[in-house]
Amino acid sequence: MCDGCLLLGYVVAMSKHYSHIKALGGLRFLRYFSREVGKQSTHVSSEISRIRNVGILAHIDAGKTTTTERMLYYSGTIHSMGEVHRGNTVTDYMVEERNRGITITSAAVTFYWNEHKFNLIDTPGHIDFTIEVERTLNVLDGAVVILDGSAGVEAQTLTVWRQADRYDIPRIIFVNKMDRRDASLNLSVESLKYKLDLNPLLIQLPVYDDEKKFSGIIDLVSLNILSWSEKDQGKTYTQTPVCQQRHGKLWERATESRNSLIDQLTTLDDELADLVIQHDSMESISSEPLLKSLRNVSSSQKGVPILCGSAYKNMGVQPLMNAVINFLPSPEKRNTHLAKAFQGNLCARVFKIIHNDQKKTLTFARIYSGKMSKNQKIYNIQQKLTENTGKLMVVYADETTEVNEVTNGNIAAVSGLKNTVTGDFLTSSYAIAERARKALSLRNKATVNESFGIDTIVPDPVFFCSIEPPSQAYQQQLETALVELQKEDPSLRVSVNEETGQTVLAGMGELHLDVIKNRLVTDYRIPVELGPLQIAYKETITNRIQDSHTIQHKLGNKLQNVTLTLSLTPDAERKGNSQDLLIFDRSPDSAANIDSIPSKYIQPLKQGAVSGLAHGPRLNCPVINIHIILHWIEIGKGTSETFVSAAMTQCIKKMLTESGTVLLEPVMKVEVVTTNEFMSVILADLSRRRPLMQEIEDRGLNRVVVSCVPLSELLGYATDLRTITSGTATFSMEFFSYKPMTSAEEAKAIESVTGFSTAAFT
Ligand code: GDP
Repeated sequence: MCDGCLLLGYVVAMSKHYSHIKALGGLRFLRYFSREVGKQSTHVSSEISRIRNVGILAHIDAGKTTTTERMLYYSGTIHSMGEVHRGNTVTDYMVEERNRGITITSAAVTFYWNEHKFNLIDTPGHIDFTIEVERTLNVLDGAVVILDGSAGVEAQTLTVWRQADRYDIPRIIFVNKMDRRDASLNLSVESLKYKLDLNPLLIQLPVYDDEKKFSGIIDLVSLNILSWSEKDQGKTYTQTPVCQQRHGKLWERATESRNSLIDQLTTLDDELADLVIQHDSMESISSEPLLKSLRNVSSSQKGVPILCGSAYKNMGVQPLMNAVINFLPSPEKRNTHLAKAFQGNLCARVFKIIHNDQKKTLTFARIYSGKMSKNQKIYNIQQKLTENTGKLMVVYADETTEVNEVTNGNIAAVSGLKNTVTGDFLTSSYAIAERARKALSLRNKATVNESFGIDTIVPDPVFFCSIEPPSQAYQQQLETALVELQKEDPSLRVSVNEETGQTVLAGMGELHLDVIKNRLVTDYRIPVELGPLQIAYKETITNRIQDSHTIQHKLGNKLQNVTLTLSLTPDAERKGNSQDLLIFDRSPDSAANIDSIPSKYIQPLKQGAVSGLAHGPRLNCPVINIHIILHWIEIGKGTSETFVSAAMTQCIKKMLTESGTVLLEPVMKVEVVTTNEFMSVILADLSRRRPLMQEIEDRGLNRVVVSCVPLSELLGYATDLRTITSGTATFSMEFFSYKPMTSAEEAKAIESVTGFSTAAFT
């Protein structure tokens, strides 16, 4: 054994108090601590550079909940560890989640690690709850992406990765489950390169013992072997420098990997490249400049640090928390435009609303500027109203601690906000909101919408079904419960079928609606029944149509009168129907007429266009993939704005009825992961479901079938797949596109829908 090993063997332990390094003979004790969590404190103030608002993103079952539980345990926030299979983890606190063993709601958890405050948001992994991921990403400054080391990048990893790209979130990756025999860091890294096209910065390597059991991790920055004690559930770990004499091959592997990491970094970071040239060797680059370079490269998102471990076997979680501190940014580095525009006044964004057991609303907000106090008057920018905050709280999963104020960079839970919904921006007064709006619009007009989150994507529901209370006596209770659930989850849509008077729910999948039902039964004690699940079809036109219509109505002795010339054009690129779907024709023939439209009619015309596409003539479904051009308009004297809007709607409806529409059905991208044994039954089964395309790839020991299948063919697929593969295959799906149907398919769809009702959804 070399002297260095003896002298520099570290024991890393946890204590509840301040961190310090104590030299004890040849051994140095590094004390990491979790300061007492501040549960008794009434004031949350932290130096902003020491805050990390992070989320954990992953495919279902990759280990988010298990990793979170370890973080809470090692940081001292909880005193015993729960396990997912026992249903007693902190973040899976909703009864529904515990029963299903999956994470549905994003629980915000605050804890301290190494003199930093972590606001950790556990995000859901199931595709049906993607809206939760979207809202969470809005308020995060960084994210940990967890991979299952035996599976690499999976379907949902791709989805969350793309979402994090959209919000420009810096990330680090934790390759979990390294204890599994079929886990492979190399294959996981290959899948990261190949599927996510990223630059992986491998900063750790797994170590295996003589029996090929995962036994520790080499930290390539410090060139230490980290080993965890089994006795104290991984609370303490030792750090032993890798040395040539003692570790032979391991040393070779570690130094080679470290050199290739440095080599990779020098192509991304000039400062490190200069240093390597100066030293004329990579071996002499110490930990500090290497850490600095990793920080620069990861914050500019030119590369992504990759760590590994096994949360379940309690290995690798503390270095992961250190990596969050080292490589993910603090709030002051993000959203600087909001901080500037609000000039130190309150600016907060609501990202989640939940209702507690007493049915009290708890609103979660991320503070971007200023501070929020209890019993404070706040102005809601979206709703244009003033409300009073009640109590202010910091949340430890399902426990809350009252505080007097929450400062910039933090996440607060507020009671008393009755009219605020997810996505709203809060500030202290109307005047401040207007000042900020002006400041933001000076930068760029689009920034106002973007900054105030007006364009957050809420996906369209693909399924709907009727919902019935057991008796009329429950109707009011049901309505109230649905209003609350919708505030929590904007991807749930509730409407009333005008013909049958039935309440109808629309959501993102079978599981989504099932969970809503179970929450109504369990949390609200309303024994509701759901009607059969229906597909949310859409309609569109196949050819351009142009026509003129005069719409008249006599009100008293006043004649309201509008003549419109419109054209409707198929536009496959247009996904949603927002107000900009109406285009004003400014060609030489039309410009004079269009420019003379009094401005008070512009908004009603746009609203009328949106309403005109709300229900198509074929199956009463929303009409999409279309744009409308207004070529000419004559508005009679004294015609009201409401009538102009209604005339636009009627004119569009008439044109759609005359031209006819075709149905579009939702198509889902389905990924089935299986062993070779079940490939043929899976392929045979999928081929009966009208697949549009199919691809097969290898992933470690598994095979993956990716196919695009109409949603109507996937009802009950989870059960069917379980049956044909004896429960061994897993699958995930996400919305892919809307596709036109053949006339036979259309006839079948119409029969199935009109058999129940002709309800439509917007
Ligand atoms: P989530 O869906 O991403 O929250 O994943 P969970 O934390 O619920 O874990 C899914 C399953 O994987 C559970 O049965 C865990 O016990 C198991 N699991 C989590 N981490 C590991 C790990 O490091 N190794 C192994 N072998 N299993 C793990």
